[in-house]
Amino acid sequence: MSEKLNPFAIAQTQLDKAAQVLQLPPDMHAFLRLPMRELHFTIPVRMDDGSTQIFQGFRVQYNDARGPAKGGLRFHWEETIDTVRALAAWMTWKTAVVDIPLGGGKGGVICDPRALSQGELERLSRGFMRVIARSIGLTKDVPAPDVYTHPQIMAWMMDEYEVLTGHHEPGVITGKPLELGGSAGRGDATARGGIYTVRETAKILGLDLKGKTAAVQGYGNAGTFAHQLAQEILGLKIVAVSDSRGGIINWDGLDAAETMAHKANTGAVRNFPGAEEISNEALLELEVDVLFPSALENVITKKNAANIKAKIVAELANGPTTPAADDILYENGVYVLPDFLCNAGGVTVSYFEMVQNAYQYYWPLEMVHERLDQKMTAAFHAVDKMARQKKVNNRVAAYLVAVDRVAQAVHLRGWV
Ligand code: GLU
Repeated sequence: MSEKLNPFAIAQTQLDKAAQVLQLPPDMHAFLRLPMRELHFTIPVRMDDGSTQIFQGFRVQYNDARGPAKGGLRFHWEETIDTVRALAAWMTWKTAVVDIPLGGGKGGVICDPRALSQGELERLSRGFMRVIARSIGLTKDVPAPDVYTHPQIMAWMMDEYEVLTGHHEPGVITGKPLELGGSAGRGDATARGGIYTVRETAKILGLDLKGKTAAVQGYGNAGTFAHQLAQEILGLKIVAVSDSRGGIINWDGLDAAETMAHKANTGAVRNFPGAEEISNEALLELEVDVLFPSALENVITKKNAANIKAKIVAELANGPTTPAADDILYENGVYVLPDFLCNAGGVTVSYFEMVQNAYQYYWPLEMVHERLDQKMTAAFHAVDKMARQKKVNNRVAAYLVAVDRVAQAVHLRGWV
């Protein structure tokens, strides 16, 4: 039978497994399987040529029992409501596993941001905020960057919100530029948090990662900083990286700064001097110590899971591994750092950003790093301990920790 690759069906299957181990009451299970609220809308945008294009957008507030919904916005040509639902569910478990007082949400627009001019991108971003402004806010739902959205987009959206409401409220959105109330350390937070969990994994497994090899699939915010920080903090040698146009490999190692400069100049990692070409698929199967899937969903599936040779798979992307692949990796003894644990550093520093915005008082970078490290390290060990105790894979263990916290909040509120 061919594998189901609908991200929301996958998110529900993952929850079902955890619900079984947790013996979650059926009514609570049914409630947590579905989003609490969703918004579907259209955004008319005046294009540079004078025409008007209608974009479709979504914002899903999956669960806000533990606090305001929180999660990024994706601008992607293959966006679907089911992908946004899955991502919103994963945000719910993510904020719970790192134990920050927030719920889970996600937004998306079906568009190809690569084909938009700066002006069109700004009008789309402002149009998006105009539609959702009445449904979000500091105490309701706080968006952030994700795939193909960046600090400048957050700045336009914050400005639009403040123009609409007539007062300053920088905490309405996170991942802002520093000049507009962003937090120090938010830029590389997703990768940095993941690197801290890899560091803890190495301790548990008794591995010395210095000089060992790694590969990074995906070269956006998470992937580029993973390259840099894996090198800097863990002493890993990154031998292969890739983006949507293809990958490069050099067993002597790829320098992060040089590779990033090459991508900035040429728009792709391809044709990097001294490196050979490798496909995204082949990169995933390399014999490396650590693999960082850092792009999109469903790249490790039933088809290729048995060929994964990495000792540690650190999921910086959301949803890179399917449930069938999870079972295969577990059987093969691959240590998987599940997405909503491994990539929780981004939302953790987003939470720090909200706190700083509320106080209008900003923390130095070292304080952000220290507090991020505490959160990630505590979450990692809670999950690792749960996995050993219950003899389940790390993803199920992460669900057990997170779902239990969300279910308690839902129960205490008297919803279910
Ligand atoms: N988009 C990031 C994620 O998937 C960050 C979300 C946030 O900062 O709210 O975790």
